[in-house]
Amino acid sequence: MDAGSPPMDFNQLGYSQPGSPYARQLRRGFPWLKFSASLEPEFREHYQSSTGLQRGRMACLVAMLLIATLFAIDFFAGTPEGTEVLNVLRLAVMLPALFVVLLATLLPDLHRHYDKIAAVCAGVFGIALAYSVAQASLHGVSYLVSGLIMTSVYVYLFLGLLIGTAVVVNTVIVGAFAALAFALGAPMPDMLYQLAVLVTASVVSAFGGYTLEHALRKSFLESRLLQQLAERDGLTGLYNRRIFDDYMQRIWRQAHRERVPLQIIFVDIDDFKVYNDLYGHQAGDDCLKRVAEVLSHAAKRPFDICARYGGEEFVLVLYDPPRDFAESLPERLRAEIAGLAISHAGSAAADVVTASVGATRIVPEEARSVEGAIQVADEALYESKEAGRNRVTLRDAVESPVVTGSFRASPGQRSHAA
Ligand code: GH3
Ligand code: MG
Ligand code: MG
Repeated sequence: MDAGSPPMDFNQLGYSQPGSPYARQLRRGFPWLKFSASLEPEFREHYQSSTGLQRGRMACLVAMLLIATLFAIDFFAGTPEGTEVLNVLRLAVMLPALFVVLLATLLPDLHRHYDKIAAVCAGVFGIALAYSVAQASLHGVSYLVSGLIMTSVYVYLFLGLLIGTAVVVNTVIVGAFAALAFALGAPMPDMLYQLAVLVTASVVSAFGGYTLEHALRKSFLESRLLQQLAERDGLTGLYNRRIFDDYMQRIWRQAHRERVPLQIIFVDIDDFKVYNDLYGHQAGDDCLKRVAEVLSHAAKRPFDICARYGGEEFVLVLYDPPRDFAESLPERLRAEIAGLAISHAGSAAADVVTASVGATRIVPEEARSVEGAIQVADEALYESKEAGRNRVTLRDAVESPVVTGSFRASPGQRSHAA
Protein backbone atom coordinates (compact mmCIF):
# COMPACT_ATOMS: atom_id res chain seq x y z
CA MET A 1 0.00 0.00 0.00
CA ASP A 2 1.49 3.37 -0.91
CA ALA A 3 1.63 6.20 1.61
CA GLY A 4 -1.17 8.14 -0.12
CA SER A 5 -3.79 5.36 -0.14
CA PRO A 6 -6.46 5.43 2.58
CA PRO A 7 -6.00 2.93 5.43
CA MET A 8 -8.02 -0.25 5.01
CA ASP A 9 -11.10 -0.15 7.22
CA PHE A 10 -11.04 -3.68 8.54
CA ASN A 11 -14.32 -3.27 10.38
CA GLN A 12 -16.21 -2.22 7.29
CA LEU A 13 -14.78 -5.17 5.40
CA GLY A 14 -15.34 -7.68 8.15
CA TYR A 15 -18.77 -6.51 9.20
CA SER A 16 -20.03 -7.14 5.70
CA GLN A 17 -19.14 -10.84 5.68
CA PRO A 18 -22.16 -12.47 4.03
CA GLY A 19 -24.34 -14.67 6.19
CA SER A 20 -22.33 -14.05 9.35
CA PRO A 21 -24.50 -13.61 12.48
CA TYR A 22 -21.49 -11.98 14.19
CA ALA A 23 -21.17 -9.36 11.44
CA ARG A 24 -24.92 -8.75 11.59
CA GLN A 25 -24.83 -8.22 15.35
CA LEU A 26 -21.83 -5.89 15.07
CA ARG A 27 -23.63 -3.82 12.46
CA ARG A 28 -26.81 -3.71 14.49
CA GLY A 29 -25.04 -2.80 17.75
CA PHE A 30 -25.98 -3.97 21.22
CA PRO A 31 -26.53 -0.95 23.49
CA TRP A 32 -28.66 -3.06 25.86
CA LEU A 33 -25.92 -5.68 26.15
CA LYS A 34 -28.02 -8.40 24.65
CA PHE A 35 -27.39 -10.34 21.44
CA SER A 36 -29.88 -12.04 19.16
CA ALA A 37 -31.48 -15.21 20.51
CA SER A 38 -29.06 -17.42 18.57
CA LEU A 39 -25.88 -15.63 19.73
CA GLU A 40 -26.69 -14.80 23.35
CA PRO A 41 -26.33 -18.37 24.72
CA GLU A 42 -23.07 -18.80 22.78
CA PHE A 43 -21.70 -15.58 24.27
CA ARG A 44 -22.78 -16.49 27.80
CA GLU A 45 -21.13 -19.87 27.61
CA HIS A 46 -17.96 -18.33 26.23
CA TYR A 47 -18.01 -15.52 28.80
CA GLN A 48 -18.47 -17.84 31.72
CA SER A 49 -15.77 -20.29 30.73
CA SER A 50 -13.24 -17.68 29.60
CA THR A 51 -13.82 -14.80 32.00
CA GLY A 52 -16.59 -15.22 34.55
CA LEU A 53 -15.28 -18.24 36.45
CA GLN A 54 -11.69 -17.04 36.72
CA ARG A 55 -12.74 -13.60 37.86
CA GLY A 56 -15.20 -15.07 40.36
CA ARG A 57 -12.56 -17.41 41.78
CA MET A 58 -10.02 -14.65 42.17
CA ALA A 59 -12.64 -12.32 43.64
CA CYS A 60 -13.63 -14.88 46.31
CA LEU A 61 -10.06 -15.57 47.35
CA VAL A 62 -9.25 -11.88 47.65
CA ALA A 63 -12.46 -11.20 49.61
CA MET A 64 -11.70 -14.09 51.99
CA LEU A 65 -8.22 -12.72 52.51
CA LEU A 66 -9.65 -9.29 53.26
CA ILE A 67 -12.08 -10.69 55.83
CA ALA A 68 -9.27 -12.66 57.47
CA THR A 69 -7.20 -9.45 57.62
CA LEU A 70 -10.08 -7.56 59.21
CA PHE A 71 -10.45 -10.34 61.79
CA ALA A 72 -6.77 -10.08 62.57
CA ILE A 73 -7.02 -6.29 62.99
CA ASP A 74 -9.98 -6.74 65.35
CA PHE A 75 -8.12 -9.45 67.25
CA PHE A 76 -5.11 -7.25 67.91
CA ALA A 77 -6.82 -3.85 68.20
CA GLY A 78 -10.05 -5.02 69.87
CA THR A 79 -13.50 -5.19 68.27
CA PRO A 80 -14.98 -1.67 68.03
CA GLU A 81 -18.28 -1.23 69.84
CA GLY A 82 -21.24 -1.78 67.51
CA THR A 83 -19.41 -4.19 65.19
CA GLU A 84 -19.90 -7.39 67.21
CA VAL A 85 -22.80 -8.42 64.97
CA LEU A 86 -20.59 -7.94 61.95
CA ASN A 87 -18.03 -10.38 63.35
CA VAL A 88 -20.68 -13.01 63.92
CA LEU A 89 -22.23 -12.52 60.46
CA ARG A 90 -18.79 -12.60 58.85
CA LEU A 91 -18.26 -16.06 60.23
CA ALA A 92 -21.80 -17.41 60.01
CA VAL A 93 -22.95 -15.93 56.68
CA MET A 94 -20.41 -13.95 54.68
CA LEU A 95 -17.48 -16.38 54.67
CA PRO A 96 -19.75 -19.38 53.92
CA ALA A 97 -21.36 -17.41 51.06
CA LEU A 98 -17.91 -16.71 49.59
CA PHE A 99 -16.98 -20.34 50.08
CA VAL A 100 -20.05 -21.50 48.13
CA VAL A 101 -19.18 -19.15 45.25
CA LEU A 102 -15.61 -20.45 45.29
CA LEU A 103 -16.92 -24.02 45.13
CA ALA A 104 -19.15 -23.08 42.21
CA THR A 105 -16.07 -21.88 40.32
CA LEU A 106 -14.13 -25.05 41.16
CA LEU A 107 -16.65 -27.87 40.66
CA PRO A 108 -17.41 -28.49 36.97
CA ASP A 109 -20.90 -29.78 37.81
CA LEU A 110 -21.78 -26.37 39.24
CA HIS A 111 -20.34 -24.27 36.39
CA ARG A 112 -23.65 -24.20 34.55
CA HIS A 113 -25.29 -22.62 37.57
CA TYR A 114 -22.44 -20.28 38.46
CA ASP A 115 -24.26 -17.02 37.70
CA LYS A 116 -27.30 -18.00 39.79
CA ILE A 117 -25.19 -19.25 42.70
CA ALA A 118 -22.94 -16.18 42.63
CA ALA A 119 -25.95 -13.84 42.42
CA VAL A 120 -27.75 -15.44 45.39
CA CYS A 121 -24.59 -15.63 47.50
CA ALA A 122 -23.64 -12.03 46.71
CA GLY A 123 -27.16 -10.98 47.70
CA VAL A 124 -26.99 -12.89 50.99
CA PHE A 125 -23.49 -11.55 51.66
CA GLY A 126 -24.61 -7.98 50.91
CA ILE A 127 -27.75 -8.16 53.04
CA ALA A 128 -25.78 -9.52 56.01
CA LEU A 129 -23.25 -6.74 55.57
CA ALA A 130 -26.01 -4.14 55.13
CA TYR A 131 -27.55 -5.27 58.42
CA SER A 132 -24.18 -5.01 60.20
CA VAL A 133 -23.52 -1.54 58.77
CA ALA A 134 -26.98 -0.28 59.78
CA GLN A 135 -26.52 -1.80 63.25
CA ALA A 136 -23.07 -0.21 63.63
CA SER A 137 -24.35 3.21 62.64
CA LEU A 138 -26.65 3.07 65.69
CA HIS A 139 -23.41 3.16 67.70
CA GLY A 140 -21.94 6.00 65.67
CA VAL A 141 -19.68 3.76 63.59
CA SER A 142 -20.15 4.88 59.99
CA TYR A 143 -16.95 3.78 58.25
CA LEU A 144 -18.31 0.28 57.67
CA VAL A 145 -20.24 1.62 54.68
CA SER A 146 -16.95 1.24 52.82
CA GLY A 147 -17.63 -2.52 52.96
CA LEU A 148 -20.89 -1.99 51.07
CA ILE A 149 -19.12 0.19 48.51
CA MET A 150 -16.57 -2.57 48.07
CA THR A 151 -19.41 -5.05 47.62
CA SER A 152 -20.91 -2.93 44.81
CA VAL A 153 -17.58 -2.80 43.04
CA TYR A 154 -17.30 -6.56 43.40
CA VAL A 155 -20.79 -7.25 42.13
CA TYR A 156 -20.30 -5.11 39.02
CA LEU A 157 -16.70 -5.72 38.18
CA PHE A 158 -15.12 -8.77 39.77
CA LEU A 159 -17.66 -11.47 40.44
CA GLY A 160 -18.05 -12.39 36.78
CA LEU A 161 -21.76 -11.55 36.67
CA LEU A 162 -23.31 -10.06 33.58
CA ILE A 163 -24.54 -6.52 34.02
CA GLY A 164 -28.26 -7.39 34.12
CA THR A 165 -27.79 -9.76 37.05
CA ALA A 166 -25.36 -7.37 38.75
CA VAL A 167 -27.90 -4.52 38.64
CA VAL A 168 -30.53 -6.71 40.31
CA VAL A 169 -28.16 -7.98 43.01
CA ASN A 170 -26.76 -4.55 43.81
CA THR A 171 -30.20 -2.94 43.90
CA VAL A 172 -31.35 -5.59 46.37
CA ILE A 173 -28.32 -4.89 48.60
CA VAL A 174 -28.64 -1.09 48.51
CA GLY A 175 -32.42 -1.35 49.00
CA ALA A 176 -31.89 -3.74 51.93
CA PHE A 177 -29.45 -1.31 53.50
CA ALA A 178 -31.90 1.60 53.22
CA ALA A 179 -34.77 -0.50 54.60
CA LEU A 180 -32.75 -1.99 57.47
CA ALA A 181 -31.21 1.36 58.48
CA PHE A 182 -34.68 2.89 58.49
CA ALA A 183 -36.23 -0.05 60.39
CA LEU A 184 -33.48 -0.07 63.03
CA GLY A 185 -33.81 3.71 63.48
CA ALA A 186 -30.31 4.68 62.35
CA PRO A 187 -29.60 8.42 62.76
CA MET A 188 -31.11 10.15 59.74
CA PRO A 189 -28.37 12.50 58.42
CA ASP A 190 -25.77 9.80 58.92
CA MET A 191 -27.88 7.26 57.08
CA LEU A 192 -28.65 9.61 54.17
CA TYR A 193 -24.96 10.48 53.87
CA GLN A 194 -24.02 6.80 53.72
CA LEU A 195 -26.78 6.06 51.25
CA ALA A 196 -25.73 8.91 48.96
CA VAL A 197 -22.15 7.69 48.90
CA LEU A 198 -23.26 4.11 48.34
CA VAL A 199 -25.62 4.97 45.47
CA THR A 200 -22.91 7.07 43.82
CA ALA A 201 -20.40 4.24 44.13
CA SER A 202 -22.99 1.85 42.65
CA VAL A 203 -23.64 4.09 39.66
CA VAL A 204 -19.93 4.50 38.98
CA SER A 205 -19.37 0.74 39.29
CA ALA A 206 -22.37 0.04 37.05
CA PHE A 207 -20.93 2.37 34.43
CA GLY A 208 -17.59 0.53 34.67
CA GLY A 209 -19.41 -2.81 34.47
CA TYR A 210 -21.35 -1.68 31.39
CA THR A 211 -18.23 -0.48 29.60
CA LEU A 212 -16.37 -3.65 30.44
CA GLU A 213 -19.16 -5.96 29.29
CA HIS A 214 -19.68 -3.96 26.10
CA ALA A 215 -15.97 -4.31 25.30
CA LEU A 216 -16.04 -8.04 26.08
CA ARG A 217 -19.08 -8.58 23.88
CA LYS A 218 -17.51 -6.63 21.03
CA SER A 219 -14.28 -8.56 21.28
CA PHE A 220 -16.25 -11.84 21.34
CA LEU A 221 -18.08 -10.92 18.11
CA GLU A 222 -14.92 -9.69 16.42
CA SER A 223 -12.85 -12.74 17.29
CA ARG A 224 -15.60 -15.09 16.03
CA LEU A 225 -15.91 -12.98 12.90
CA LEU A 226 -12.16 -13.09 12.34
CA GLN A 227 -12.31 -16.85 12.59
CA GLN A 228 -15.09 -16.86 9.99
CA LEU A 229 -13.11 -14.55 7.73
CA ALA A 230 -10.25 -17.03 7.80
CA GLU A 231 -12.58 -19.94 7.06
CA ARG A 232 -15.11 -18.48 4.67
CA ASP A 233 -15.11 -17.22 1.15
CA GLY A 234 -15.74 -13.47 1.21
CA LEU A 235 -18.10 -13.44 -1.78
CA THR A 236 -20.45 -16.32 -1.06
CA GLY A 237 -19.98 -16.87 2.68
CA LEU A 238 -19.37 -20.58 2.03
CA TYR A 239 -16.36 -22.40 3.49
CA ASN A 240 -13.21 -21.81 1.51
CA ARG A 241 -11.05 -24.40 -0.20
CA ARG A 242 -8.51 -24.65 2.63
CA ILE A 243 -11.17 -25.48 5.19
CA PHE A 244 -12.78 -27.93 2.79
CA ASP A 245 -9.50 -29.79 2.24
CA ASP A 246 -8.84 -30.03 6.01
CA TYR A 247 -12.40 -31.02 6.78
CA MET A 248 -12.48 -33.62 4.03
CA GLN A 249 -9.47 -35.42 5.53
CA ARG A 250 -11.09 -35.48 8.97
CA ILE A 251 -14.55 -36.51 7.85
CA TRP A 252 -13.02 -39.20 5.65
CA ARG A 253 -11.26 -40.75 8.66
CA GLN A 254 -14.44 -40.56 10.71
CA ALA A 255 -16.55 -42.17 7.97
CA HIS A 256 -13.88 -44.85 7.67
CA ARG A 257 -14.06 -45.59 11.40
CA GLU A 258 -17.85 -45.64 11.39
CA ARG A 259 -18.05 -47.52 8.07
CA VAL A 260 -20.61 -45.13 6.63
CA PRO A 261 -20.73 -43.54 3.17
CA LEU A 262 -19.96 -39.97 2.20
CA GLN A 263 -21.61 -38.29 -0.71
CA ILE A 264 -19.46 -35.87 -2.68
CA ILE A 265 -21.24 -33.54 -5.08
CA PHE A 266 -19.46 -31.17 -7.46
CA VAL A 267 -21.45 -28.34 -9.01
CA ASP A 268 -19.98 -26.19 -11.77
CA ILE A 269 -21.83 -23.32 -13.43
CA ASP A 270 -22.16 -23.74 -17.19
CA ASP A 271 -20.65 -21.25 -19.61
CA PHE A 272 -19.87 -18.87 -16.82
CA LYS A 273 -17.02 -17.20 -18.64
CA VAL A 274 -19.48 -16.20 -21.34
CA TYR A 275 -21.90 -14.98 -18.66
CA ASN A 276 -19.20 -12.68 -17.28
CA ASP A 277 -18.35 -11.48 -20.77
CA LEU A 278 -22.00 -10.75 -21.55
CA TYR A 279 -23.31 -9.31 -18.29
CA GLY A 280 -20.17 -8.08 -16.51
CA HIS A 281 -18.20 -9.24 -13.53
CA GLN A 282 -20.54 -7.70 -10.96
CA ALA A 283 -23.52 -9.60 -12.37
CA GLY A 284 -21.29 -12.69 -12.31
CA ASP A 285 -20.61 -12.15 -8.62
CA ASP A 286 -24.32 -11.78 -7.87
CA CYS A 287 -25.02 -14.96 -9.78
CA LEU A 288 -22.37 -16.85 -7.77
CA LYS A 289 -23.97 -15.63 -4.53
CA ARG A 290 -27.41 -16.83 -5.55
CA VAL A 291 -26.16 -20.24 -6.62
CA ALA A 292 -24.16 -20.53 -3.37
CA GLU A 293 -27.29 -19.71 -1.39
CA VAL A 294 -29.16 -22.61 -3.04
CA LEU A 295 -26.31 -25.02 -2.31
CA SER A 296 -25.78 -23.92 1.28
CA HIS A 297 -29.32 -25.03 2.18
CA ALA A 298 -28.46 -28.59 1.19
CA ALA A 299 -25.72 -28.99 3.83
CA LYS A 300 -27.76 -28.55 6.96
CA ARG A 301 -26.79 -31.54 9.09
CA PRO A 302 -23.92 -31.17 11.60
CA PHE A 303 -21.28 -33.12 9.63
CA ASP A 304 -22.24 -31.84 6.17
CA ILE A 305 -20.21 -29.15 4.47
CA CYS A 306 -20.70 -26.91 1.47
CA ALA A 307 -17.66 -25.06 0.11
CA ARG A 308 -16.55 -22.93 -2.78
CA TYR A 309 -14.06 -25.22 -4.43
CA GLY A 310 -12.75 -22.50 -6.72
CA GLY A 311 -14.08 -19.93 -9.20
CA GLU A 312 -17.58 -21.01 -10.22
CA GLU A 313 -17.25 -24.51 -8.83
CA PHE A 314 -18.76 -25.71 -5.58
CA VAL A 315 -18.56 -28.90 -3.59
CA LEU A 316 -20.89 -30.49 -1.07
CA VAL A 317 -20.02 -33.37 1.20
CA LEU A 318 -22.79 -35.15 3.05
CA TYR A 319 -22.02 -37.53 5.88
CA ASP A 320 -23.94 -40.80 5.79
CA PRO A 321 -26.91 -39.42 3.86
CA PRO A 322 -30.08 -41.53 3.54
CA ARG A 323 -29.92 -43.35 0.19
CA ASP A 324 -33.06 -41.76 -1.30
CA PHE A 325 -31.89 -38.31 -0.33
CA ALA A 326 -28.42 -38.93 -1.75
CA GLU A 327 -29.88 -40.07 -5.05
CA SER A 328 -32.37 -37.24 -5.45
CA LEU A 329 -30.35 -34.30 -4.12
CA PRO A 330 -28.01 -33.69 -7.11
CA GLU A 331 -30.96 -33.45 -9.50
CA ARG A 332 -32.81 -31.22 -7.06
CA LEU A 333 -29.83 -28.88 -6.87
CA ARG A 334 -29.52 -28.73 -10.64
CA ALA A 335 -33.25 -27.96 -10.95
CA GLU A 336 -33.13 -25.31 -8.21
CA ILE A 337 -30.22 -23.52 -9.89
CA ALA A 338 -32.04 -23.48 -13.23
CA GLY A 339 -35.14 -22.44 -11.27
CA LEU A 340 -33.40 -19.25 -10.18
CA ALA A 341 -34.20 -18.18 -13.75
CA ILE A 342 -31.14 -15.96 -14.15
CA SER A 343 -31.11 -15.05 -17.85
CA HIS A 344 -28.07 -16.28 -19.76
CA ALA A 345 -28.31 -15.48 -23.45
CA GLY A 346 -24.87 -16.94 -24.15
CA SER A 347 -25.44 -20.39 -22.69
CA ALA A 348 -25.45 -23.34 -25.03
CA ALA A 349 -27.42 -25.45 -22.56
CA ALA A 350 -30.45 -23.22 -21.84
CA ASP A 351 -31.54 -19.58 -21.83
CA VAL A 352 -30.93 -19.32 -18.08
CA VAL A 353 -27.91 -19.96 -15.85
CA THR A 354 -27.52 -23.69 -15.31
CA ALA A 355 -25.00 -25.94 -13.65
CA SER A 356 -23.56 -29.36 -14.31
CA VAL A 357 -23.39 -31.78 -11.41
CA GLY A 358 -21.24 -34.80 -10.67
CA ALA A 359 -21.81 -36.89 -7.57
CA THR A 360 -20.56 -40.01 -5.92
CA ARG A 361 -21.47 -41.96 -2.82
CA ILE A 362 -18.48 -43.71 -1.39
CA VAL A 363 -17.53 -45.67 1.72
CA PRO A 364 -13.97 -44.82 2.81
CA GLU A 365 -11.74 -47.86 2.99
CA GLU A 366 -8.04 -48.49 3.45
CA ALA A 367 -7.55 -48.96 -0.28
CA ARG A 368 -9.28 -45.68 -1.08
CA SER A 369 -8.12 -42.14 -0.66
CA VAL A 370 -9.76 -38.76 -0.35
CA GLU A 371 -8.09 -37.72 -3.57
CA GLY A 372 -9.44 -40.79 -5.34
CA ALA A 373 -12.97 -40.09 -4.10
CA ILE A 374 -12.78 -36.49 -5.26
CA GLN A 375 -11.52 -37.70 -8.59
CA VAL A 376 -14.56 -39.94 -9.02
CA ALA A 377 -16.95 -37.04 -8.35
CA ASP A 378 -14.91 -34.81 -10.61
CA GLU A 379 -15.03 -37.32 -13.43
CA ALA A 380 -18.79 -37.51 -13.00
CA LEU A 381 -18.94 -33.73 -13.37
CA TYR A 382 -16.77 -33.92 -16.46
CA GLU A 383 -19.16 -36.48 -17.91
CA SER A 384 -22.09 -34.09 -17.34
CA LYS A 385 -20.18 -31.36 -19.14
CA GLU A 386 -19.33 -33.64 -22.04
CA ALA A 387 -22.91 -34.82 -22.36
CA GLY A 388 -24.15 -31.28 -22.95
CA ARG A 389 -24.15 -29.54 -19.51
CA ASN A 390 -27.14 -28.75 -17.27
CA ARG A 391 -27.32 -32.35 -16.15
CA VAL A 392 -26.39 -34.74 -13.36
CA THR A 393 -24.09 -37.74 -13.40
CA LEU A 394 -24.14 -40.13 -10.46
CA ARG A 395 -21.22 -42.49 -9.90
CA ASP A 396 -22.17 -44.79 -7.09
CA ALA A 397 -18.84 -46.01 -5.78
CA VAL A 398 -20.14 -47.63 -2.59
CA GLU A 399 -19.62 -51.13 -3.97
CA SER A 400 -17.17 -50.66 -6.82
CA PRO A 401 -13.45 -50.19 -6.22
CA VAL A 402 -11.92 -46.81 -6.95
CA VAL A 403 -8.69 -46.49 -8.82
CA THR A 404 -6.67 -43.79 -7.12
CA GLY A 405 -3.48 -42.09 -8.01
CA SER A 406 -4.21 -39.67 -10.81
CA PHE A 407 -4.98 -36.41 -9.14
CA ARG A 408 -7.15 -33.74 -10.65
CA ALA A 409 -5.64 -30.48 -11.75
CA SER A 410 -6.67 -27.34 -9.93
CA PRO A 411 -10.04 -26.00 -11.14
CA GLY A 412 -8.55 -23.19 -13.14
CA GLN A 413 -6.18 -25.53 -14.97
CA ARG A 414 -8.64 -28.24 -15.99
CA SER A 415 -9.66 -28.32 -19.59
CA HIS A 416 -12.73 -30.25 -20.63
CA ALA A 417 -11.26 -30.88 -24.01
CA ALA A 418 -8.26 -32.68 -22.47
P1 GH3 B 1 -18.02 -24.68 -18.43
O1 GH3 B 1 -19.45 -24.71 -18.81
O2 GH3 B 1 -17.21 -25.66 -19.21
O3 GH3 B 1 -17.83 -24.83 -16.97
O4 GH3 B 1 -17.48 -23.25 -18.85
P2 GH3 B 1 -17.14 -22.03 -17.95
O5 GH3 B 1 -17.06 -20.82 -18.79
O6 GH3 B 1 -18.12 -21.95 -16.82
O7 GH3 B 1 -15.76 -22.42 -17.31
P3 GH3 B 1 -14.36 -21.70 -17.37
O8 GH3 B 1 -13.50 -22.48 -16.41
O9 GH3 B 1 -13.88 -21.59 -18.78
O10 GH3 B 1 -14.59 -20.25 -16.82
C1 GH3 B 1 -14.91 -20.01 -15.50
C2 GH3 B 1 -15.17 -18.54 -15.38
O11 GH3 B 1 -15.61 -18.21 -14.05
C3 GH3 B 1 -13.98 -17.71 -15.65
C4 GH3 B 1 -13.94 -16.69 -14.56
O12 GH3 B 1 -13.91 -15.38 -15.09
C5 GH3 B 1 -15.24 -16.88 -13.83
N1 GH3 B 1 -15.08 -16.63 -12.40
C6 GH3 B 1 -14.33 -17.32 -11.52
N2 GH3 B 1 -14.42 -16.77 -10.29
C7 GH3 B 1 -15.24 -15.70 -10.41
C8 GH3 B 1 -15.73 -14.72 -9.47
O13 GH3 B 1 -15.41 -14.72 -8.28
N3 GH3 B 1 -16.57 -13.77 -9.95
C9 GH3 B 1 -16.95 -13.73 -11.26
N4 GH3 B 1 -17.79 -12.79 -11.66
N5 GH3 B 1 -16.49 -14.64 -12.16
C10 GH3 B 1 -15.67 -15.60 -11.74
MG1 MG C 1 -18.11 -23.58 -15.43
MG1 MG D 1 -15.14 -24.46 -13.52
